Amino acid sequence: MRVAIDTQPGGAAPNEDWVAGTPTLAVVLDGLSTAGLDTGCRHGVPWYVRNLGSQLVATLADSETSLTTGLARALEGVAVLHPECDLGNPGTPSATVAILRQREGQLDHLVLADSPIVLEGHQGYSVITDLRVDQILPELKAEVARHETHTAGHKEALRNLVFAQRETRNATSGYWVAAAGPEAAEHALTGSVPTDDVRAAALLSDGAACLVTDYAMSTWPEVFATLRAGGPRGLIDTVRKVEATDPRGQRWPRYKSGDDASVAFCQYG
Ligand SMILES: [Zn+2]
Repeated sequence: MRVAIDTQPGGAAPNEDWVAGTPTLAVVLDGLSTAGLDTGCRHGVPWYVRNLGSQLVATLADSETSLTTGLARALEGVAVLHPECDLGNPGTPSATVAILRQREGQLDHLVLADSPIVLEGHQGYSVITDLRVDQILPELKAEVARHETHTAGHKEALRNLVFAQRETRNATSGYWVAAAGPEAAEHALTGSVPTDDVRAAALLSDGAACLVTDYAMSTWPEVFATLRAGGPRGLIDTVRKVEATDPRGQRWPRYKSGDDASVAFCQYG
């Protein structure tokens, strides 16, 4: 597996995405926005995703360890790095997870929340994603969409949404993300496909996937053509060019003008 990676923050704030590639593993993490609310952690989201990612590379180095088990161990590994923080805070740093691992002719995949893995097969494309987060709190999401970005109304609506999301996060009735406890790993979507069935794969944070999923300005075949021609940076540049045509989020209502964007592009053969 040949993995090419890139990540770019969406604005002036530190990047809350994290991406890595090894000859057998690709990982994309997308830290959830805190919207300026209390987290109980003095380290912050960039620290959280950096450490969760490093732990994942370590726990998944042994191909006998399942992705679910590796994620659970990585979550425990991060928690012990900051016992002085309030890990029971509902706003404790959290992230989406997308993992692809090559193992003995198989590709194992795991997704938790909405950073998709797209597989380019010989017959077409399959998108592995977990959209449970999209199904909750529709009224509060609609309120965010009613405001242009960079307005006071948008900021307030986003804070209200994030506050409410915290109440349903990592609960059976809500949606699951990587946070402070290992139990979230059990709620990830997992599967395996034969490596021979896949020509290439892409792991994307939603700040990159939005080109297809939200803006509808590209198709998956076009995304893979862009990745082959210009690599992950070429795809992120394309996203930024599209967003620059709608800086206030009027055409495509969104949480920020540009979100942190990360891509791991995996090729075989
Ligand atoms: Zn902390």
